[in-house]
Amino acid sequence: MKKDWKEIYYTLLDRMVDAMTNPEAFDRDSFVEILKQICELFHLAKGVTEFYPDLASEKSGRGEVMIDYDNGRGEVAILKRRFVTNSMTVIRGTLYVAKEDAHLSEDQLEKVDILLRALLSFVVRNRLQKTVEKFGYHDEEGYPNMRYFGRFLGQKLMNGALENHTAICFNLRHFSLVNQEIGREKADKVMKAYVELLERTAGEGNILCRLGGDNFVMTTDTGNLPNILQIFSGYSVRYGEDSHETVPVSASAGIFVIPKGYSPGHVGEIIDHIYSPLQLAKMGGEDTIVFYDRDMVTLREHTLQVQQQFPGALANREFHVFFQPKVDVKTGRIHGAEALCRWIRNGKIVPPMDFIPVLEQTTDICLLDFYMLDLVCQHMRKWLDEGRESIRVSVNLSRKHLSDMDLLDHILEIIDKYKVPHESIEIELTETTTDVGFRDLTRVVNGLHAEGVCTSVDDFGIGYSSLNLIREIPWDVLKIDRSFLPTDEDAETSVTYVMFRHVASMAKDLGLECITEGVETGRQVKILRENGCQFAQGYYFDKPLPVEEFEEKIGTDYYKKKARAAKK
Ligand code: C2E
Ligand code: MG
Ligand code: MG
Repeated sequence: MKKDWKEIYYTLLDRMVDAMTNPEAFDRDSFVEILKQICELFHLAKGVTEFYPDLASEKSGRGEVMIDYDNGRGEVAILKRRFVTNSMTVIRGTLYVAKEDAHLSEDQLEKVDILLRALLSFVVRNRLQKTVEKFGYHDEEGYPNMRYFGRFLGQKLMNGALENHTAICFNLRHFSLVNQEIGREKADKVMKAYVELLERTAGEGNILCRLGGDNFVMTTDTGNLPNILQIFSGYSVRYGEDSHETVPVSASAGIFVIPKGYSPGHVGEIIDHIYSPLQLAKMGGEDTIVFYDRDMVTLREHTLQVQQQFPGALANREFHVFFQPKVDVKTGRIHGAEALCRWIRNGKIVPPMDFIPVLEQTTDICLLDFYMLDLVCQHMRKWLDEGRESIRVSVNLSRKHLSDMDLLDHILEIIDKYKVPHESIEIELTETTTDVGFRDLTRVVNGLHAEGVCTSVDDFGIGYSSLNLIREIPWDVLKIDRSFLPTDEDAETSVTYVMFRHVASMAKDLGLECITEGVETGRQVKILRENGCQFAQGYYFDKPLPVEEFEEKIGTDYYKKKARAAKK
């Protein structure tokens, strides 16, 4: 034994204490190195540590040999130590010497014992930490979990290492079908193979974690994003020995390309930036990959807010009807009005464009339309009872209703409840793109026509107008969209002007009542007049008005004066 063995011994002891106070800074190699030094210092031939997760495993010998120093001469065990922790994990250490070296003094043995015990308690601690890591940061199938992802991002954030990275949240598309088709066990393998491919493609130092089910989050080097997108768009994964035993897997994803100099307040912000676009991507539209951008989030928040507030707002009667007059351009006589919805929330008017498109994403719009028709009929009943001159009022009906087989009954039920003459109600419908839509539209308009309720093609000219729509469906009114109305700057030879003239004349020849929307100037009123479009609706005559104001105005010759002014 060397002279300075005590010095070495105390150095080793020091290092053991260090290891126990700062286990993370102490890796497996330094651990093996210490064991080796202990063995050499005391001429030991072999050192073995064993770890058993519980007593039963110890009994059956199903443990793990952690470290093994062995110079091949260890025959006699001179020291054995065994610890059982509170959670019943067992750690054992045994030191061996060669037969001829079995002469350690009591003092030396005591010192070896201290070192061995320190070593074992370090092993236990390290091991327990790994167990905590395993259960706290992984799911039952061994995938790192969301907590892991959060911690990973947090560390990267602290080191400013997120630049050139992209965070992704993805969901395997129709994976339940894969489960059904090839069985759970094989499907699990497919999932694993697919995500491993993504992990490999993402680049070193990235991470992929499972949120649960078939939802995952990951990071990738931004440079590798195109390859990742390729895999998301579809990849054949093998699940059996045969080369034809493959199944296509694709994914919907929300993607946040982390911008230069990005410093969020907290990790949750990054997670929000990938989670919201994924929700959009999953909605079943054509976009299965959605990138984060600020406008999209605002839109989504707005959509959710409107959808949440709608039922309450309807019950609180926050939706009101405004009437916009339709005026005969020659006489200034009021011919009718369009009922337009206004949401009055906290004393402010919310314009239809802020909520109608949202309600059209679900069937909420149908509830609103029936509510509006009901309101309109109530007002008309009142006007009839007051002996006012009767005018026709048009109500907008969303295309969402068209597949509803009870639509006609429902409309008539409302109109008849107030005993409003059918011909005093006009239903405005917009054009449609599909064959099915066309058939539904034909059925609805025919049904209304048979009951004497008027119908109009709203916004004619934009979207998908087809002349078939006019020829085959018995409309009463054609409403020319304001984008077809020449502006004051348009010359008579301009395309808009020429088209307007022809559409108005076609309506007339087909015996359809013709009205143009968005008439704002006296010159436009003249254009209508000169081209045979009898009615105008627009700001020149009036904006949509609250009911009291509308009631006041229809009794006066206000519109007649306006029409006369347009003659000059
Ligand atoms: P729409 O049916 O084409 O209604 C005409 C729109 O043009 C109205 O917008 C009206 O205020 C606006 N307008 C009228 N005259 C002028 C003008 O001279 N210049 C300009 N620039 N605009 C004019 P509003 O009230 O904002 O309604 C927008 C759309 O919302 C309506 O277009 C309709 O599609 C929808 N909408 C409104 N109320 C309802 C409803 O109760 N049910 C359904 N399904 N849709 C509705
Ligand atoms: Mg309309
Ligand atoms: Mg319109």
